[in-house]
Amino acid sequence: MADSNSEIVVIGAGPAGLTAAHELSKLGRRSVILEQDDQVGGISRTCEFEGYRFDIGGHRFFTKVDYVRQIWREILGNEMLTRPRLSRIYHDGKFFDYPLKPLNALLGLGPVEAVRIGLSFLRAQIAPAPRVASFEDWVVSRFGRRLFEIFFKTYTEKVWGMPCSQISADWASQRIRQLDLLVAVRNALIGSVATGQGEVVTSLIEEFEYPRHGPGQMWERCRDMLSEFGSKTMMETEVISVQHARGQVTGVVAQQPGMPEYLIRTDQVLSSMPVRTLLRCLDPAPPESVLRAAERLNYRDFLTVALIIEEPDLFQDNWIYIHSDEVQVGRVQNFKNWSPDMVPDQQKTALGLEYFVQEGDELWSLPDDELIALGTRECETLGLASADKVVGGSVVRMPKAYPVYDGTYQESLTEIRSWLDQIGGLQLIGRNGQHRYNNQDHSMMTGVYAARNIVGSEYDIWDVNVEEDYHEERDSKNLSTSGDRLVPSRIEIAPLERRIRELYARIDPVALGSAMGMMTGVTLFLATVVLLLRGAETSMPNISLLGNYFLGYGVSWFGSVVGLIEGSLAGYLLGWSMASLTNLVMRIEERKTFAAFEAGQMMNLYEADES
Ligand SMILES: Cc1cc2nc3c(=O)[nH]c(=O)nc-3n(C[C@H](O)[C@H](O)[C@H](O)COP(=O)(O)OP(=O)(O)OC[C@H]3O[C@@H](n4cnc5c(N)ncnc54)[C@H](O)[C@@H]3O)c2cc1C
Repeated sequence: MADSNSEIVVIGAGPAGLTAAHELSKLGRRSVILEQDDQVGGISRTCEFEGYRFDIGGHRFFTKVDYVRQIWREILGNEMLTRPRLSRIYHDGKFFDYPLKPLNALLGLGPVEAVRIGLSFLRAQIAPAPRVASFEDWVVSRFGRRLFEIFFKTYTEKVWGMPCSQISADWASQRIRQLDLLVAVRNALIGSVATGQGEVVTSLIEEFEYPRHGPGQMWERCRDMLSEFGSKTMMETEVISVQHARGQVTGVVAQQPGMPEYLIRTDQVLSSMPVRTLLRCLDPAPPESVLRAAERLNYRDFLTVALIIEEPDLFQDNWIYIHSDEVQVGRVQNFKNWSPDMVPDQQKTALGLEYFVQEGDELWSLPDDELIALGTRECETLGLASADKVVGGSVVRMPKAYPVYDGTYQESLTEIRSWLDQIGGLQLIGRNGQHRYNNQDHSMMTGVYAARNIVGSEYDIWDVNVEEDYHEERDSKNLSTSGDRLVPSRIEIAPLERRIRELYARIDPVALGSAMGMMTGVTLFLATVVLLLRGAETSMPNISLLGNYFLGYGVSWFGSVVGLIEGSLAGYLLGWSMASLTNLVMRIEERKTFAAFEAGQMMNLYEADES
């Protein structure tokens, strides 16, 4: 148990840090919270511009954990509103239901597009891809390429910054499991949307809670309550080093802008700063291998362009997913629809344009006024608001908004955790503190259990599960992913596997059909015309025998046109059949090769072919 005279240090005044301090106050313990920013709330803050409030992405308050709801009440009482949810997909000037309902999509896209989608769906069913490895393969095999291109490709690539062909198929099967096309048509007709397992998907929740003045209100009030209790939140105070000795944390060095560094002696630290940064701050430093593991952790960043628009009602949605690829914006929030109190003037609207970026990339580095101009242009392109109605704007950049789950993060975390376990009194909490793609409730519960551990409990804070209430004290050291949001991972195509695919590359039947069709039709047309121009005496009199195969063909002007049309059709059919037959053989051979490969019988193929 901690020395009750020693100061407890909490790093970070986001939901995890402030909830930890709040729980400690309920246990009668004071703490000092160190926050590098000039605002509390972390990613769940609410920013303000000329009285207009906006979130870093709209933050729904939804949880299955009663204790989290209780804390929200303790902090904000009846300032928590229950809000209806409306969010749609915007594509090509039209709105579509989200999550996608195929019948709604087909009706909205119009008859021509519906036929194209139908044909590409049929094609995917008749000639499915031999292997479903990527997100793209998965969606195309279920819905056809056309639906994939319209509703899945652009947004997914905007958010994750990688091609759908490189995202693992597992992610699709987890996220889109309710969208079986035929089941979806039935559901659309009877008006219910359910998962394959008959449960309602979290993202479909029709109502959610929301603080009257945005999520920041929750965390600003929490800071004030803590201050009344005697736990101070030190703003603009960056932790630059966490000291430890003989297996115990001993102090934290912090610094405020322009001020000298200072040391706070402590034997208890709750850290919600990004685990990668924490490892860099440890003094003495961890072994090289642990530091390298920390450096392998990656993040995706985020920026919001807030625009104030002189229009009382632009659209009814809380947010809109932007699937159009002519703009870079990924999602647009309408904060007035989250809570009317987010805007001071009801004749105006505040939009939050969300861009998914990488720190230091082109968009991230644009000056604010250029980002505001870009947001204004994109709003006009989308037809959401005209540029001359935009009366103000502001930009917020949020580094490390998303911890990335790539091929190595689990291994790195395991290595980091097992080394950190040796340092008593240091607990890692929250989203980036634990490198977890979570919601606020998970961050809050890690803070609650870490606080209780300080007064003698023994919770495994790495195993906090907000899908089911976590009641028991456990000692499991397993990495749990419960409570995480779904994150795509990059597929790894082994070079040998890629080589096999290249060996059995397919021929496009439409391309070969078109080429052969054009060649046959034009040749027959020209041959007939030449015969006609030369007169009856020709060197190719037998050409008229083609009339036995092409209905109405003869050596006449009418026959030349018949030859062009029917020759093209025949050539197309021949080319298409040849390509399809070849592809069938290729597919059978490729499957045999994969089977042999999987059975370990093809060890030398790659090397042999490389020479
Ligand atoms: C676009 C988007 C939308 C989201 N929507 C929702 C939603 O609808 N509902 C929901 O529940 N959750 C949502 N989330 C998730 C939610 O924002 C997080 O789960 C939550 O904010 C994590 O809280 P935290 O305290 O763990 O971390 P953070 O919010 O990241 O807070 C960590 C704090 O530590 C501080 N810090 C870092 N380094 C140092 C240092 N060296 N010294 C001092 N301080 C430091 C940071 O400045 C920050 O204030 C969303 C997230 C994003 C990105």
